[in-house]
Amino acid sequence: MSVMPRPSILSVEPYVGGESKIPGVNRIVKLSSNEGAFGPPPAAIAAIQAMASEAHRYPDGGAKAMREAIGARFGLDPARIVVGNGSDELIALLILAYGGEGTELVMSAHGFMMYDITGRWAGCRIIKVPERGLCADIDGMLAAVGPRTRLVFLANPNNPTGSILPQAEVDRLRAGLRDDILLVLDSAYAEYVTRPGYDAGAKLVDASGTTVMTRTFSKIFGMGGMRLGWCYAPAPVIDVLSRVRGPFNVNAAAMAAGIAALAQKGWVEQSVAHNTEWRGKVAAALEAAGIKVWPSEGNFLLVDFGTPAKAKAADDSLKARGLIVRAMGGYGLPACLRITIGTAEECTMVIEALTAFMHG
Ligand SMILES: *Cc1c(COP(=O)(O)O)cnc(C)c1O
Repeated sequence: MSVMPRPSILSVEPYVGGESKIPGVNRIVKLSSNEGAFGPPPAAIAAIQAMASEAHRYPDGGAKAMREAIGARFGLDPARIVVGNGSDELIALLILAYGGEGTELVMSAHGFMMYDITGRWAGCRIIKVPERGLCADIDGMLAAVGPRTRLVFLANPNNPTGSILPQAEVDRLRAGLRDDILLVLDSAYAEYVTRPGYDAGAKLVDASGTTVMTRTFSKIFGMGGMRLGWCYAPAPVIDVLSRVRGPFNVNAAAMAAGIAALAQKGWVEQSVAHNTEWRGKVAAALEAAGIKVWPSEGNFLLVDFGTPAKAKAADDSLKARGLIVRAMGGYGLPACLRITIGTAEECTMVIEALTAFMHG
C-alpha cells in the first residue's frame, strides 16, 4: 500500500519551462520564456532593494496599495481586482473554484499549457478545440460546450501562436456561452497589441458579469521572477477568490516592485515601440530567408520550419550560438520554434543564425 493522489493528478504532465542553460556554452541568450527585452524597470529594482530590510514584515494581505495602483493605471475599480502569485495562481484558483471532477474545461488546441495542467489537477475533463490557421475557432469552441462545461479559456493574444481574435469574435464567444460558464480572458500580452480595436477584456467583464480578465507583470514589466499577476472580475467572482486565495499570496517585494513599475515613466511605451519594431524586423528577415513566420501580436514569434526534423536542426544551430528558444512539441507544434523578441543585439543574432542555417 502507498499513498495515492486523486487519479486525475496522474494525468498531469509537469510544466516544462523555457530552458536557460546550454552545456558547455558560457554566454547564453535566453529567448525561451517571453520575459521582456529589458529586464525589470529600474524603479522596480530599487523598490525590491528597499524592501529587503522589511522582509520580516508580513505583506498587506488585502494588497490595498497594489490594487489601487492597478486600478488607477487601467481605470478599474480596485475592489474588483485580485492580485496573485503570478497570473498562473489566479488561473489555478479559478479552475479549482469553478471546475473540478465532473466538469469540463474548453480551450483551443494550441492554447496556453497551464489551463490543461491545472484543469487536470482540478479533475476537469479538458476539451481542446481544433484551431483554424493557428487561431481559436469560436464556432468550434461553442460547439464543444456541453452541459458539464463550466470554464472556457481564451488567451488573446494567444501564447504560443501569437494569434489574436477580433473583439467581435470574443463578444460572440461570450454571447454564445450559458451564464453558468465562466469565460477567462487571459491577456498576458495585452500591452504589446498594436492592432486597432483591441480591448484586453475589461469591457466584457463589466458587460457580462460572467467573464474574468487576467493580466501579468511577467511580460512587458519584466518581473517574471517576482511572481505578480492580477485579475479583474465581477463582484461574485471576487468574493470566491477572496475565500480561496492564501491570506498572503503575493509577497511584499513583488507588490512594492509592481507599484514602482507602474510608476516608471515611459516604460510601456518604449517597450512596445521596441517590440513592434523588432517583431516586424525579425519576421521580415526570417521570411526573406525562406522561413514561415506566423503573425504575432505578442512579444514573440512562432516560426514554422515545415517539419519537426528541420525545426530540431534549426534549434540545434541556434543552441550552438548560445541562443535558447522554445521548442513547441509540447504544444502540438513540433515543426515550430517560439522565439522571444529580445534586445536589438539579440534579435540580430537570431536573424543571422537562422539566415545562416537556411543557407547552410
Ligand atoms: C506567461 C503567461 C502567463 C503566466 O504569467 P504569470 O503571471 O507569470 O503566471 C499566463 N498566460 C499566458 C498566455 C502567458 O503566456
